[in-house]
Amino acid sequence: MESERLKGLIARVAQVLIDSEAELTALDQAIGDGDHGINMKRGATAVLAELDGLAAKPPGEAVKAVGMQLVMKVGGASGPLYGTLLMTLGKSWPEPLDRAGLAAALEAALAAVKARGKSDLGQKTMLDVLSPAFEAVAAGKSPAEIAAVAQAAAEATVPMQAVRGRASFLGARSVGHMDPGARSSQLAIASLCDVLEGAP
Ligand code: ADP
Ligand code: MG
Repeated sequence: MESERLKGLIARVAQVLIDSEAELTALDQAIGDGDHGINMKRGATAVLAELDGLAAKPPGEAVKAVGMQLVMKVGGASGPLYGTLLMTLGKSWPEPLDRAGLAAALEAALAAVKARGKSDLGQKTMLDVLSPAFEAVAAGKSPAEIAAVAQAAAEATVPMQAVRGRASFLGARSVGHMDPGARSSQLAIASLCDVLEGAP
């Protein structure tokens, strides 16, 4: 992947997360402590500040470096979890890039998040979006199809009761709200899919 394309991908995801600060804050105010918007914005801003250096690296190294930025700069549960996701994905990045190699790398990254978060599917977290979206990638779905899978998966966290993270403190009162991390994962995936589909 050429550096300009990689730069465009990273910049788009970071910008969408920054632009979504208010929405992510509102979701986290409903079932958490209200910092998810600022956490994601802090991480995305740190990544944008390093954009040229990051995009000059080979893709696997770049993904790993983005993950390290998130671990270093983002507080809360989401920084270490997204950081673990991207550091593992970067370490496992297939060269040359092919679908089977990418599927294996995504699976490794998901497993690393589960281990770090002591979490699994159905617990109303980012995993509930990441897992079906990664499966769609492995199945060779188009960017538009992957984005649709991620959107449905984020919506499917609304009726779930949280079992991990701060939202789990609310017990049954966590039902009826979209999980903030599921939404940020969906926004990141949707923006990646937009760029890959050639949308402006
Ligand atoms: P904090 O919960 O520390 O305030 P954030 O608000 O930034 O951190 O992130 C909250 C999101 O992190 C949740 O909505 C959820 O998706 C995700 N999350 C929290 N704990 C876990 C966990 N153990 N495993 C997977 N995801 C988690
Ligand atoms: Mg929070």
